[in-house]
Amino acid sequence: MIETKDFERPAVTRLRCPSCRSGNLFLVESATWNTEWKVVDGKFDRAEGISNPQSVDRLDATCQHCDHHWKPRGAWQIDDVCEEIEDGVKD
Ligand SMILES: [Zn+2]
Repeated sequence: MIETKDFERPAVTRLRCPSCRSGNLFLVESATWNTEWKVVDGKFDRAEGISNPQSVDRLDATCQHCDHHWKPRGAWQIDDVCEEIEDGVKD
């Protein structure tokens, strides 16, 4: 699903602050990760652990204007609030 996204284009969301209607937000996607270390003959480098996201669990929003915090309804990851972008439509 993520592979099909065009990351060269700006993403667009219709999400607005429910308190002041501002479109200037911070969005935080929270995920569960695991980290894998390769152990060779009982030795491994702690700094070389490879982290992989296992599941995206939650999306939270904060308004840059009024500092309102909320959990967007029905949105669990950033893709849930991104709109499809028509050709030639940029801000
Ligand atoms: Zn606000």
